[in-house]
Amino acid sequence: MKKPNIIFIMIDALRARNLGCYGYDRNTSPNIDTLSKQGTRFTNAFSTNNSTNKSLMAMLSGRHIPLDKEKNILVTKSELNSFSNSGGKFLSERLKEHGYKTYWLNDLYGWQKRGFDFYFSNNKKNQPISLFQNIKDSSRLRSVTRTFFHYMPKKMSDNIKLKYGRNNGEMATEKAIQIIKEEKDPFFLWIYYNSPHIPYNPKQFTNKFVAPKTKNYFFKELKKHKIKKEMVGFFKGAFSKYATFEDIIARYDSAIYHDDYLIGQVIEALKEKGIFDNTYIFLFSDHGESFDTQNVFFSHHGLYDVCTNFPLIVTGPTIPKNKINESFVKHEDMVPTILDLLKIRYSSLEFDGNNLLSKEKLSYTTAEEAGYQNKRSIRTKDFKYIEPVSKEDVVCELCNEIHGGKLELYDLKKDPEEKNNIASEDTSTLTEMKTLLEKHLKEEKQINERRRIAHKLKNSN
Ligand SMILES: [Zn+2]
Ligand SMILES: [Zn+2]
Repeated sequence: MKKPNIIFIMIDALRARNLGCYGYDRNTSPNIDTLSKQGTRFTNAFSTNNSTNKSLMAMLSGRHIPLDKEKNILVTKSELNSFSNSGGKFLSERLKEHGYKTYWLNDLYGWQKRGFDFYFSNNKKNQPISLFQNIKDSSRLRSVTRTFFHYMPKKMSDNIKLKYGRNNGEMATEKAIQIIKEEKDPFFLWIYYNSPHIPYNPKQFTNKFVAPKTKNYFFKELKKHKIKKEMVGFFKGAFSKYATFEDIIARYDSAIYHDDYLIGQVIEALKEKGIFDNTYIFLFSDHGESFDTQNVFFSHHGLYDVCTNFPLIVTGPTIPKNKINESFVKHEDMVPTILDLLKIRYSSLEFDGNNLLSKEKLSYTTAEEAGYQNKRSIRTKDFKYIEPVSKEDVVCELCNEIHGGKLELYDLKKDPEEKNNIASEDTSTLTEMKTLLEKHLKEEKQINERRRIAHKLKNSN
């Protein structure tokens, strides 16, 4: 029997709850819903960070990068070096060693190219990627670039994005179909989609869903807040003046429909070639998106479930069909899962994740964020606790307000939307959660240290 193919379908900023198979009432995802019936759907997949870069690192490495003091949402050279120096390898590198052809489709940062034989982007010269790499270690330059894009007329920035930009799902899909048709060797194919990322502007189906008329005008609400000028400028460029929250959400949903439509074509191509049954598909996002939770408007900062809970669907030869798995899982679990499926051996010290399908169940999940605010959280089945890393991190730098409270505790059974902070009412649960978080962070430090020593010993032999 030929080695199974592996396809990763990553959709940026896709909330689990906005997909039909996760119970959404709009028909945003007919193809993903069908796919979910052919495999296992995870309902408690939580990202350990809400930034694309850090989540991507977890997917590729099976490891978690601890919170960055520099408030960096990117993956830095020093983080990549320390990963390599402790014996780390990307999934792409491992699969290449085992005879896989490795493909990455669509523009993204560049550092994640490691281990991929082929990297297709819309822009052959990869100019924006090298530009981005140059600015990634300078927070001042980052902020200047961000401002520059936000103030640019929308038509101009749209043109730049179409010509050089990341969002070219059509190109990625076309290329994926070609690879599926022509590739004779087993392949690892990573397809990146990002229509549900702000500004929610897919090439087609922009108005697939239209919201009923309401008076929840977005910019009227925005006026009540002190959000940074460049972000307001960005919103003004992205959304119409009289857009309501419902209009913007309808556009987000239309963007999902767009990517689902393209994903349907990829799955169709696999079936036509007769290799669907010998292919493992992992479909997931890097993080979710907040529409208005605790005044985090249309972005993905904050550690609320809307941002951390990501959809995860796995199909393939040995994956249980039409099954729902409610265990806590995370991006770090994906690499060890693949290695187990392919019977590739590894040491347990290598990963911060476990096989997704293992019987071992986690009782909690943790998450961190850096960027606009440095916060961390721990979530059990019933409660969520969020704390700032230091006193300076209480106020969100982007919104100039405290989201939720200085310390936050939510009773998820009674309050799944995390609207009612009970930190001052239930201090005993708060202390319990805080202690559990501290224990986890301590253990994580110990594992990293053990990893470093093990690698040093191996190298000195
Ligand atoms: Zn992202
Ligand atoms: Zn904020």
